[in-house]
Amino acid sequence: MAEEKQKVVIIGGGAAGLTAAFYLQKEVEENNLPIEIQLIEASHRLGGKMQTVVRDGFTIERGPDSFLARKTSMIRLAKEVGMDDKLVHNSTGKSYVLVNEKLYSMPGGSIMGIPTEIGPFITTNLFSIPGKLRAAADFILPRSESGKDQSLGNFFRRRLGDEVVENLIEPLLSGIYAGDIDQMSLMTTFPQFYEVEQKYRSLIIGMKKTAPAKQKQPVSQDKSKGAFLTFKTGLQSFAEAIEAKLDPTIILKGHRVEKITRFKQKYEIYLNNGETIDADSIIAAVPHKAAQAMFSDYRFFDPFKSVPSTSVATVALAFPEEAIKNDIDGTGFVVSRRGDYSITACTWTHKKWVHSAPKGKVLLRCYVGRAGAETIVDLSDDQIIKIVLDDLKKTMDITLNPDFAIVSRWKNSMPQYTVGHKQRMATILDHMKEELPGVFLAGASYGGVGVPDCVDQGEAAVQDVLAYLKSN
Ligand SMILES: Cc1cc2nc3c(=O)[nH]c(=O)nc-3n(C[C@H](O)[C@H](O)[C@H](O)COP(=O)(O)OP(=O)(O)OC[C@H]3O[C@@H](n4cnc5c(N)ncnc54)[C@H](O)[C@@H]3O)c2cc1C
Repeated sequence: MAEEKQKVVIIGGGAAGLTAAFYLQKEVEENNLPIEIQLIEASHRLGGKMQTVVRDGFTIERGPDSFLARKTSMIRLAKEVGMDDKLVHNSTGKSYVLVNEKLYSMPGGSIMGIPTEIGPFITTNLFSIPGKLRAAADFILPRSESGKDQSLGNFFRRRLGDEVVENLIEPLLSGIYAGDIDQMSLMTTFPQFYEVEQKYRSLIIGMKKTAPAKQKQPVSQDKSKGAFLTFKTGLQSFAEAIEAKLDPTIILKGHRVEKITRFKQKYEIYLNNGETIDADSIIAAVPHKAAQAMFSDYRFFDPFKSVPSTSVATVALAFPEEAIKNDIDGTGFVVSRRGDYSITACTWTHKKWVHSAPKGKVLLRCYVGRAGAETIVDLSDDQIIKIVLDDLKKTMDITLNPDFAIVSRWKNSMPQYTVGHKQRMATILDHMKEELPGVFLAGASYGGVGVPDCVDQGEAAVQDVLAYLKSN
């Protein structure tokens, strides 16, 4: 008699869910495991936030556009699915911060806005003299209370003062999280800064002492190569390459999971079309609010209800080269809240990613929307494009209309790791072990927002599932 198979259901086909499906299928095939896999995705495509538009020779990312090269899980997965030959590094160039209508180049030697070299910090016009003196208070201020989480805003404002935070640190951090730094958790997002402060007391001294070690790491031979990687065919092509490696019969697109209940040692998964699927183990690779809704019988998920997700939109603008007069030497800028701007960042994508635009063309990619200023995302495409163009014209001499523009809205899409995130997650995971054994979470809402973090979580969830099924 054939051995009865155990069923693992992966919910959500973004970076985390796709990775989990790929590595679980690999384990099953290589070790001949009696496991049946099902991947359920609500939309009609896999890839989640990885979405690319290829048009008129442009490769335009709607969502993520790249990832940190030092996070190697992406490179490993790219090799597994035959995409490593499509990987390209970004070209480096000057980057700027826009404060009060003026572009300032990033002060040299600053790491995430924290000065580690005194010279460039003294000479930059980005900060006033009182602002610089206030930042110097970092040398004498005491450490934070040990072991206690606090907001990034609280931490950096106390150490370096409001001006350094608002003119440099906040715009840089917003570029990653689109969040409110006065709510975001230091311990979750940048525990290394807390550790440096605990060890050296002064953040500036500590960062200076720890920075050279980093620079000793293998520097790419070519200095024009940046710290980021992407696929020259777009991140969506990466998702498609993973999908192509999956057994098509395990994929169920266009089906939304509405509810999950536990029945003895099994789970019943209710879909929006009224069907039910049984599972022995589940990887929920969906945003936290979707997870909370599926497991609404389990009140311990309720804290997820109050964890915000910010709405943003990306706006890609394609121009002929001659449309931009007096082009700025650089690859982009982030925008301080000090100033009358709606855009929060702009990348000169054709310079940062040379593959992204055909010769003779310019591709600018801007962000709008951040914590506390999200309503812009609800405007029409035409309204958003006009606002973005008006903003850009304040810093660049743009003489022609774009050939085309693509607005991509990401409503409630950037999970915010607010103060207490780690503790909140630990409590929920403890409850899950007790009350939902065999159910695991993976994805941007939980253990890191970057695509590689989601890949790591998808891979880790596979090991959790295998250990659970083995122990059963
Ligand atoms: C505009 C933008 C730019 C970004 N830029 C970068 C970047 O440059 N580099 C970087 O590393 N990261 C970036 N990120 C972050 C990164 O893209 C995401 O954190 C990551 O892709 C999320 O992957 P995920 O698998 O957790 O979730 P998702 O990609 O959101 O996938 C979740 C999937 O679950 C499905 N789903 C939801 N509910 C259900 C349900 N009930 N039933 C079935 N399926 C369901 C959804 O349809 C979706 O496909 C960016 C994010 C955004 C929005």
